[in-house]
Amino acid sequence: MLFKVEKVTNRIFRLIMPYVCCYLVVGDEQAVLIDCGWGYGDIKAVAQTLTNLPITLVLSHGHPDHNGSAVQFDDVYLNERDFNMIEAQSEIALRRQLMLKYVASDFVENLNLWQAPRTALYTPLTEDIQFHLGGLTILPYDLPGHSMGCMVFIIPEERIAIFGDAISHPTLMFLENSSTIQEHYEAMVKFSVHAQQYDRVLVNHETFELDKRVLDNNIRLAKAILDGTDEKIPASKRNQRFSGHTVLMARQREPWLPSEPHKIGNIYYRDDRIQ
Ligand SMILES: [Zn+2]
Repeated sequence: MLFKVEKVTNRIFRLIMPYVCCYLVVGDEQAVLIDCGWGYGDIKAVAQTLTNLPITLVLSHGHPDHNGSAVQFDDVYLNERDFNMIEAQSEIALRRQLMLKYVASDFVENLNLWQAPRTALYTPLTEDIQFHLGGLTILPYDLPGHSMGCMVFIIPEERIAIFGDAISHPTLMFLENSSTIQEHYEAMVKFSVHAQQYDRVLVNHETFELDKRVLDNNIRLAKAILDGTDEKIPASKRNQRFSGHTVLMARQREPWLPSEPHKIGNIYYRDDRIQ
């Protein structure tokens, strides 16, 4: 099976691929797909088995495991700050190289199933755009860090927030288009005033859902990095190689998922991109 579908609520579905998932949000009049995975296979057809409504694609950020099927949709929203990286990040060669690391050992690749990179323009996604789907609203918020253009989403009627890769366990901030810790910290503090609008936090990797305290914990960790008081544990050699820079973890890596909520959350960052 290429895709696995899970029901998060009656109106939110999780579409799971190797390593990553995306979310289909279905209102009474319209549907929005938040992210679209690697672009291997036909995710639009999977979404259309769950709704007959028109589907708009909204990207949480421009990375290859989130944008791969963008070519399948007419209307695609993306924060302008990720426009400069999306061309390189949607090449089939890069998506293949990354996805094949995460497939099962008996996986047989069919090269014809790769979706071509999107060449059409993206519509700039900003905090001023609210998606009214009929009985459901998606509110986007800027959360630079993991990438400059990262957005998170609140669906107040379902009391759900989708953090994507923007605030996670851990948040990876050693990538090409990551912001400074200072900018990420300020963005999390600004976003935190909305925390009373949601109870559940969805993310795109690993466990796919985190305790909502991940936000407060990561705010504290980012502040510690800024103050120079975090644990500064060297990250794995793989992460160092991937980044090409010294990568530090704000605290010791915990297993998935630590049982104590205060241990949920971490930040992996470059020591030359703090301020
Ligand atoms: Zn990402």
